[in-house]
Amino acid sequence: MKSVGSRIVIWVILFAYQKNIIQLSLVNYLVSITKRLPTNVVGEFFVDSSCINCDTCREVAPSVFEESEGYSFVVKQPQTEFEILQTKQAVFSCPSGSIGSVNGFDRAEIRETFPLKISDNVYYNGFNSPNSFGAKSYFIDDKNGNWMIDSPKYSKLLVNKFEELGGLDYIFLTHRDDVAHADKFAYKFGAKRIIHYFDRSVQRDAEIIIKGIDPVEIEPGFTIIPTPGHTKGHCVLLYNNKFLFTGDHLYWRSDIKSLRATRNYCWWNWEEQVKSMERLKQYKFSWILPGHGHRKYFEENDMKIHFNKFYKKMSDPNYW
Ligand code: SF4
Repeated sequence: MKSVGSRIVIWVILFAYQKNIIQLSLVNYLVSITKRLPTNVVGEFFVDSSCINCDTCREVAPSVFEESEGYSFVVKQPQTEFEILQTKQAVFSCPSGSIGSVNGFDRAEIRETFPLKISDNVYYNGFNSPNSFGAKSYFIDDKNGNWMIDSPKYSKLLVNKFEELGGLDYIFLTHRDDVAHADKFAYKFGAKRIIHYFDRSVQRDAEIIIKGIDPVEIEPGFTIIPTPGHTKGHCVLLYNNKFLFTGDHLYWRSDIKSLRATRNYCWWNWEEQVKSMERLKQYKFSWILPGHGHRKYFEENDMKIHFNKFYKKMSDPNYW
């Protein structure tokens, strides 16, 4: 809720813009300043009240951002070169443009760092889309074809980067909520979109429709595993028996150091989500790469320990 004071300030800014006294970029900046959250420490970077608490900045720049009362805030201004880079990358990852910088910075230079390498040939795309509730999307650069997992904002910069990396052959959509601009990317690159039959209503002209609950190998090393629960047509992608792209099925919570799945954001059927988890037990992987929440790497055996521990927890009828 904006105070009367900040409403007046915004009105004055907009009046100045209408009279051509200031430019649109300055309007955006000044409006953002009026929404700056009081929880931020004083300094160059800040989060404003348009934050949708998607958690992305806290993963991209973990030493700089924390959460308080449903918003992220700057807990410590970045000091090292690495922290400053991470903070600027968080600006480009924020789906709602809620991270401000008092003096601005060279955006072109930071844009060039995307997509951000995670491990091997797997990347995080940045440019999270508000249309996907701020979910993260990923890119795989593979000899059997390039894949995008869920969709970021349609950004010219990412399009150019994907072109440099050989384009997109497949766009795997974990479920109906995280499709954002998948169709625009598909038309641009002639990529095949993959989605489950039960979630296909959001991409009716998708090229590959998964049916049932049996796993489907689309290309060597790329297996789609249906995991109904969060939505009826939710699926995950297992890549090279190492990377599991989990959409909204499963994620890592850094604060409690545990795998998690959210029952209160389970839109379809929690009991089915638990059964889907049980079916995942048979697979080998070391990485969890979710749409929301944090990614995590463990050696395969440690992953199994965490996985089984969490499976037991979520099977408890009192789990919430
Ligand atoms: S990335 Fe943006 S919307 Fe998401 S938590 Fe951070 S400030 Fe909020």
